Amino acid sequence: MLQGSPTELVASFERQRQAFALDPDPTLATRLSRLDRLAAWLDSHESDIVRAIDVDFQGRSAHETRLAEVFVVRTGIRHAQRVPTALHFRPAYNRLMPQPLGVVGIIAPWNYPLQLSLGPALAALAAGNRVLIKPSELTPRLSALLVSMAREIFNPDELDVAIGDVELGKAFASLPFDHLFFTGSTQVGRDVAQAAAANLTPVTLELGGKSPAILDVSCNVAVAAQRIAFGKLLNAGQTCVAPDYLLVPAGTAENVASHLERAITKLYPKLASNPDYTAVISERHRARLAEMVREARTAGARVIEVNPAGEAFNAASRKFPPTLVIGAPVATRLMREEIFGPVLPIVEYANLDDALAYVQRNARPLALYWFGDDASRCNRALRETVSGGVTINDCLWHLAQESQPFGGVGPSGMGAYHGKWGFDTFSKRKPVFHQARWNGTALFHPPYGHTFNWLLRVLSRIA
Ligand code: NAD
Repeated sequence: MLQGSPTELVASFERQRQAFALDPDPTLATRLSRLDRLAAWLDSHESDIVRAIDVDFQGRSAHETRLAEVFVVRTGIRHAQRVPTALHFRPAYNRLMPQPLGVVGIIAPWNYPLQLSLGPALAALAAGNRVLIKPSELTPRLSALLVSMAREIFNPDELDVAIGDVELGKAFASLPFDHLFFTGSTQVGRDVAQAAAANLTPVTLELGGKSPAILDVSCNVAVAAQRIAFGKLLNAGQTCVAPDYLLVPAGTAENVASHLERAITKLYPKLASNPDYTAVISERHRARLAEMVREARTAGARVIEVNPAGEAFNAASRKFPPTLVIGAPVATRLMREEIFGPVLPIVEYANLDDALAYVQRNARPLALYWFGDDASRCNRALRETVSGGVTINDCLWHLAQESQPFGGVGPSGMGAYHGKWGFDTFSKRKPVFHQARWNGTALFHPPYGHTFNWLLRVLSRIA
């Protein structure tokens, strides 16, 4: 385990590098054993994980931790255990040989601290790599648990955990990893990509942004409101793929807001005193949300705070009430920055062209949600917008598909993982051409003559 010392960090990296050099292509049994150990650790430590994240957040729903962290990682492990066999042992004349890259660095954020550390780690292990993880400084309990996990079930040359602040993060990002996998903000992603570029280390960037949910005129507003309320309030909106803002047909914002109020009340009849309504990660983040709402209100927006039981929200509890904002001007922070909390702006559009133009002129989002039953309008939205992924008539669920890649595009990220895509991200897919003993390629050798010209003519027609 590494406690913030760049020297230890380099030593750990070198240890993994040497171990990789000694065993550059770990057997299927070795890889499966690493994944088995991780799965067994998850099974026996679920309550420790729930407790650690709850302490880090000062209130994280146990159910959310079981679903969005433990369950997701466990599903990933099961899926990965089936992948390498299929890819590895397919005999062919032309062969694409997946090969481990070497030592992989993983930098994780605080919002799903288990899922976003172990999700990429399990894919890197399945592909046969050594793994160094740097979790977020904002989740110290969960990070400590990851350290004890690493000690308990891995050799430090297989998987290690580096604990430290942003400075250690910088030292980490400048190590010459064979692949660097970063999940976090777009701003820090830029710095990480630059640090990696100095070593020509390939990066995967899983970033954030403002993910829109478009309500079409053809949608069932009551159903959409229930699903949006769930997607927005899971982890109190601190989800990279949470709907950031709504685009609704002109004249419907008030109606959509009242459906959302009803839906939220159903999901969370109480908030401040409800253990299933998660807190905001830090006082700084809570104050930021409050300031964004204040600015929008001052700029003329209508702010609806949803608080079904009329509870008091004091700063000490760090819970922030679900807040709907109608008519926030585009220049406000609420409409410019990723919100990452339980605040939901509702923006009206004149027609579908207008809604799509709004999405197109903003940064390409990590997710886009479409609510509506009109297939041709939905297809237009799919064709005319570029986003990391889409869920139609619901929120978030495209992220949970191990049979689909997950990742952003442009400012919301580059590269992808989950399922087979995680395995590929952490592998060099090396093309190998097996030459046969008897073959015709000598016909292409000089000295060139009639045979060469005839052959080229024939091949040009059929190739
Ligand atoms: P962050 O970018 O502030 O920090 C992420 C990690 O980077 C932390 O471990 C931090 O210590 C480290 N770090 C900070 N500065 C660094 C530097 N200069 N060099 C190297 N490492 C550095 O992000 P956060 O606040 O922890 O997480 C929230 C953000 O993450 C949101 O923008 C959210 O959308 C995004 N996110 C994206 C995904 C996804 O899958 N695309 C998932 C979760 C969160």
